Amino acid sequence: MTNIILLGPPGAGKGTQARRLVEERGLVQLSTGDMLREAKDSGTEMGKVVADVMARGDLVTDEIVIGLIEEKLRMVKAKGFIFDGFPRTLAQADALGALLRRSGNQLDAVIEMQVDDNALVERISGRFTCGNCGEVYHDKTKPTARAGVCDVCGSGDLRRRADDNAESLKQRLMEYYKKTSPLIGYYYATGDLFSVDGLRDIDEVAQSIGNVLDQAKRH
Ligand code: AMP
Repeated sequence: MTNIILLGPPGAGKGTQARRLVEERGLVQLSTGDMLREAKDSGTEMGKVVADVMARGDLVTDEIVIGLIEEKLRMVKAKGFIFDGFPRTLAQADALGALLRRSGNQLDAVIEMQVDDNALVERISGRFTCGNCGEVYHDKTKPTARAGVCDVCGSGDLRRRADDNAESLKQRLMEYYKKTSPLIGYYYATGDLFSVDGLRDIDEVAQSIGNVLDQAKRH
C-alpha cells in the first residue's frame, strides 16, 4: 500500500495534485473538504452543523473529520490513499497514525507543498471546479477552452466554492498557521516529511511529487 498525505495551505494545489495521483497511480483520494461539502449539499444533520463553520473558514471538530476518515478506511478497498486536507491538527495526525497501524498499514510520505502566501489569494480567488467530474480550473492560469463548459467531461456545472473569498481565506490561513503548520515539525520528527516547491506549474509539481514517491519507496 502507498499512503500519502498532501500538506499545505489552502490554494497550495493539494486537490489538483491528488487528482493527478489518482489518475497516474490508481490511488484513492480522501478529501475531508469534499466529504464535508457533500454532507452540506445533501443536507444531512452533520452537513447542517458544519455549514457555518466552513463558510467562516474555521476548522470542523476533530471528532467529525476523524469519524469520516475512519469510515472511509473501513469501507473503501484501495491499493493506497492520498489524504488531501487531512490531517489538519496534531490530534488528527495521531488518530490517522493509529487508524493506519490498526489495519497493519503505515504512511509512506507526507508531502509539504510550499507556496508563497502572496500567491494563495490569487490562486483561490480565481478558482472554480467542475461539479460533475471535479476538474479544477482557474480564470487566469487554467481557463476552460469553451466558456462555461468543462474540458474533461463537457458538463456545464462549473462551481465556485462559497469559502473562496477574501474574508474566509484570511481565516483559513490563520487556522492553517495556528493548527496545521505544526504538522510540518511533527512529520519531520517522524521522518516522513518531504517538501516540494508548489509554485511551479502543475506538471512540474507532479514530477517532483513522483520523484518523492520513488525515493520514499526505497526507504
Ligand atoms: P478544503 O476543501 O480542504 O479546503 O476544506 C474546506 C473546509 O472544510 C475547511 O476550511 C474546514 O472548514 C473544513 N475541513 C476540511 N478538512 C478538515 C479537517 N481535516 N479538519 C477540520 N476541518 C476541515
